[in-house]
Order: sequence, then structure tokens, then C-alpha cells
Amino acid sequence: MTPEQTVCVTGASGYLASHIVKQLLEKEYRVSGTVRRAPSAYPWLTSLPEADNRLELVIADLLNEGSFNGAMQGCSTVMHTASPYVINVKNPEKDLLDPALKGTLEVLTAAMKTPSVKRVILTSSVAAITDEPDSSKILTEEDWNTRSSLKRNPYHYAKTMAERAAWEFMEKNRPGFSLVCINPSMVTGPSLGPALNTTNGMIRDIMSGVYPGIMDLNWGFVDAGDAAEAHILAMETPEASGRYICSAKELHMRDLVALLRSSGLNRYQLPKLDLSGPAGTALMKVLSWTQPRNTGTFIRTHIGHSVHYSNTRIQQELGLTFKPVEESIIEAVEDLIRHLHLPEKR
Ligand code: NAP
Repeated sequence: MTPEQTVCVTGASGYLASHIVKQLLEKEYRVSGTVRRAPSAYPWLTSLPEADNRLELVIADLLNEGSFNGAMQGCSTVMHTASPYVINVKNPEKDLLDPALKGTLEVLTAAMKTPSVKRVILTSSVAAITDEPDSSKILTEEDWNTRSSLKRNPYHYAKTMAERAAWEFMEKNRPGFSLVCINPSMVTGPSLGPALNTTNGMIRDIMSGVYPGIMDLNWGFVDAGDAAEAHILAMETPEASGRYICSAKELHMRDLVALLRSSGLNRYQLPKLDLSGPAGTALMKVLSWTQPRNTGTFIRTHIGHSVHYSNTRIQQELGLTFKPVEESIIEAVEDLIRHLHLPEKR
């Protein structure tokens, strides 16, 4: 694929999508980005180098039928990133499942009506891989989350249903484009826009005294620039197919807190108490019932389990290399302070 081609990026305003748009413009692609408000609401996109010449923002909503048809005209690739990334919602069906699932089908249907589209890249998630990791297993692209529901980790459920529906759509309709899924873990690093992303919000919470102690939890992390690059490599690699886990490294909450502490961030309210042993885990399971509903469910399904993702496929087949996530996390913190999501403490 050569630059001068146009790539449609849905949810261009989002944390991850903004990095995708920036990299596409740097690589001389034209971008048709879908957003929900007037272009003037997105100065971090419209002020990107080359945005005046190569970026068009088009209004579209995942829940409006036919909404994406216009934005895809003449595009060779669609990167479908738009989907709510929120853990606690009032109505999981309306707020998470509908936009993820109906929105994905809406985008695929629009792509099928647009002959120029040759590939759709769907931003899925490791949430579609598992919602209760088995500590003894290395998770691969073969693994599917089969446990989530509207009541149990509904964000995970929505992402799983959306990705499953996308593969079923391909099977049933055999459209003139191929589908590739990118399944990132926790995406971190600086944000181009001012909004607080859910993953970086978790880092903010760890630094703001929200958690009483260090829990026996670990997460996979990946730099936002690397996750964005994965989408572009999936477009530029003709043989790319199937799903690609995009996760650089796992960090235990203990390592994350130690990293923040050793980076001179002791002045924030980092958790001091070590609750990562069996007694702490039992206590945190009880305390999880005092948390917002889906945070509580997440804690109960993950605490005491250790997650391990294989990133072999994405490195070998797409040639993605990973930036050390420790650097990305510190950059994310600096950025949280810059965007006033964390107070500047000296
Ligand atoms: P984000 O910053 O919250 O971006 C979500 C995007 O989806 C925004 O552009 C939002 O538009 C758009 N959107 C939500 N509901 C919509 C609707 N009804 N119609 C049209 N657009 C809608 O989240 P993100 O972290 O960049 O996530 C992007 C994608 O990556 C999501 O699919 C998410 O599941 C996936 N992902 C994220 C992570 C992570 O750690 N960040 C990890 C794995 C996978 P508005 O700006 O108008 O709200």
C-alpha cells in the first residue's frame, strides 16, 4: 500500500485513534476520520502537521444507520476503533454492547457497500481473549473470552461480542475486503487530546489514593504509539490475517507502584500497604463489593490470577517492535499532570 491512499479511521477523536491519525499523516496517507462533533472540537487533530491537506473529519455515530457510508467513500482501508471504553456504566446493554456490536456491524456493512475498501482493521482488545486469566497459561490469539456477560465485566462482553460478530459477518457475507483484528492490552503513554482515557485513569487512581494497598493484580501494557503502529502494519502487510495480540509486557501492581516510586513520584498518594498475599487478596475480594459495580467484578475475576499474553505473532508477522512500557507509563504520568488530571505536586 502506498501513501496517497485514504484511510478511514472511526472514532478519530479517541486516545488511540488520535495516535493512529498522527502516524498516518506522518506516513503521507490521507485520512477520513469520523467524529461526533464539529471539527473545531478537535484542535489536537486539526493542528497536526499536514492535517490541513490530508485530514478530513466527518460526523458519524455508531448507532445511526448509514452514518459511516460517506466517510468511507474512496477509502482503501477502514480502521474501526470507535467503541466506548468505559468500565462502569448505568446500562451495559445500551451504553456498551449496542455501540460496540451494532456499531461494528454498521461499519462492516458500510465497508461492504464501498468497493474501494480492501481491508478493515478492527480494534478489538485482550478483553476478547479472557476475563479471568489462568496464571499457568500463556494466552494466544487462539483464546477467546467465553465468560463475560452483561452482568459480568460488560466491557469485556461488548468487545468479545463485537469481534465475534465481525468474524461471523465475514463468514456469512464474504465481502470484497479482508478483516484483521488488533487486540491491545492496556494502552498507555501520552495523550494527544485533553480527555482522560480509562487506562491512564487507572494510573491516575493508583497515584491518588483510590486503592488502599497493592493488590495481587497484573496487567499487560503497550505504548499508544506502538498500538497505533500495529494498525498501520496490519494495513501495510498484505499477508496479515486473523487476530494479533498487541501487548509489550505484563506488570504486577507491585512493579507499577515501584516504578512510580523510583521515578520520583513519591509525593503522590501511592499505595503503601502490601495486600498482595493470600490474606490481602481475601480482604480485597470483600472490599471489592464497596467499589463501583464493574470495578468490583473486575477485581474479583482478576485478583490472585496472573495474566500472560503471547506477543510472538505480532512481532513475527507484522514486524512490530515494542517500546519499554515503563517509559510509556512515566510519559503518561507527565501527561496526566500537563492535562491537569493529576495536580502538580513539588
Ligand atoms: P477513547 O479515547 O474513549 O475513544 C473511544 C472513541 O470511540 C472516541 O472517539 C468516541 O467518540 C468513540 N465513540 C464512542 N461511542 C461512539 C458512538 N456511539 N458513535 C461514534 N463514536 C463513538 O478510547 P480508546 O482507549 O482510544 O479506545 C479506542 C479503541 O481501542 C476502543 O475500541 C477500545 O475498546 C480499544 N482498546 C483500548 C484500550 C486502552 O487501553 N485504551 C485497550 C484495548 C482496546 P467521542 O470522542 O465522541 O466520545
